[in-house]
Amino acid sequence: MGGYYSCTYIQNGITFYPDNKLTVCCMSFDENVTIANLEDLPENLSRHILDKKQIMIEDFKKGKIYDCCRQCPSLRKGYFKTTIKKIRHITLNHYLACNLKCIFCGYAKELFGKSKDTNHNLVLKTIKKMRHDQILSKDLFVDIGGGEPSISTGLNEILKYIIGLGYNAHINTNAAKFSDVYADGAKKGKIKITITADAGSKDVYAKVKGADYFKTVWENTKKYIDYIGEDNDRKVEIKFILQPENISDINNMIDMCVKTKVKNIVCDMDLNIKPENYSVYKKPIVMFKKLCYDNNMNLHKGSFLPDELWHDTQKQDSFKTYFDKMLTRARKCIKTSVRPLILVGLLMILTVLMRLIR
Ligand code: SF4
Ligand code: SF4
Repeated sequence: MGGYYSCTYIQNGITFYPDNKLTVCCMSFDENVTIANLEDLPENLSRHILDKKQIMIEDFKKGKIYDCCRQCPSLRKGYFKTTIKKIRHITLNHYLACNLKCIFCGYAKELFGKSKDTNHNLVLKTIKKMRHDQILSKDLFVDIGGGEPSISTGLNEILKYIIGLGYNAHINTNAAKFSDVYADGAKKGKIKITITADAGSKDVYAKVKGADYFKTVWENTKKYIDYIGEDNDRKVEIKFILQPENISDINNMIDMCVKTKVKNIVCDMDLNIKPENYSVYKKPIVMFKKLCYDNNMNLHKGSFLPDELWHDTQKQDSFKTYFDKMLTRARKCIKTSVRPLILVGLLMILTVLMRLIR
C-alpha cells in the first residue's frame, strides 16, 4: 500500500462502452484508459485487464497522470492497493438508445449519431469469460446506465445472468417506461433503482429532459414504490441533477417525493458546471437539505456534486438545523412550564369562587 493518485475505477472497475470498447474508466474513452476492442478480444483477456490496471497504477505512482484524468472528480490521493487481482465493479454503458433528450446528456453531445451500440451478446460473452477466469470478486457490483436501459430488451438477459449468480445490480433509469424485471429484482433486494427525475414540475421537466414525460415518470415512480412495498428503503431512490434550468424547482421536487412516498434522494450536479459558478448552487443545496430533513427523507450526495460545495453547505445546514432544534425545544419548554401555571391559576380562582358561594 502507498499514497498516490488513483480512482475507484482504476482500483475496482471496468466499463463497457459503445463501439465495442472495454475501458478502465467510466468517464473517458481516451486511449490511455482503453483496455480492448470486444470484437478483437485478446486470448488472455483477464490477464490483459489486470495488466492494464497495473500499468496505470505504476504510472500514477510515479506522478505520470494522464491528461484525461487530470480534471476528473473521481481522481484523489489516497492509500490505494498497488496490485489488483479482482474486478469488483462493472459498468454497462454500451448502448445509446434513449427515449429522452436531456440537455446535459454527455452521450447526446459526444456520441449520438457518431457511435454504435455494442452488441449485448458480446458484452455477456466477455463477462462470462471473466467469470470463468475467476477475476470477478464475490462482491461484484454491476452498474447499468446507458442510454435508457428499460427500452433495451437484450440488456435484461445480462441482468438476469448477473442476478442469477447472486451479484447485485444498480439500474439508472429515467422511468419513462416501467420495467417488471427491475421491480421484481428490487423487491428481492438484488437491484437498486435510481430514477433520474430532475424536475418537480411539468414545465421544468420538459425544458430539462426534452420530452413531455413528467406525469408518466412520477406515476411509474409511485408504481415501483407501491410494488416494492413499505420496505422500499435503499431499493428506490430519486436523483435530481442540479443545473441552471431546475434550481428554482426544488420545492416542487420535494413535494413530488412526498406524494410518491420516496424516502431516498440523491442531490447531484451537472458535470459541466464550472467551479466559478458553484456559488449559485449553495442556496438550492441548503434548501434541499432543509426540506429533506423536515420531511424525514434520506439525502445523499451525488458523485458529481463537488465535495467542497457539499461541505460548505453542510456548515450552513448544520447551523440552521441546530437553530430549528433550539427553537422547537424552547417552544416545548414554554408549553410545559406555562401549563402548570395555568392549572394553579384555575385552582386559585375555583377556591375563591367556592368561598364566595359559602
Ligand atoms: S478519467 Fe477519472 S474515472 Fe477515468 S480513469 Fe481517470 S481518474 Fe479514473
Ligand atoms: S435519460 Fe440519460 S441517456 Fe437519455 S438523454 Fe437523458 S441523460 Fe441522456
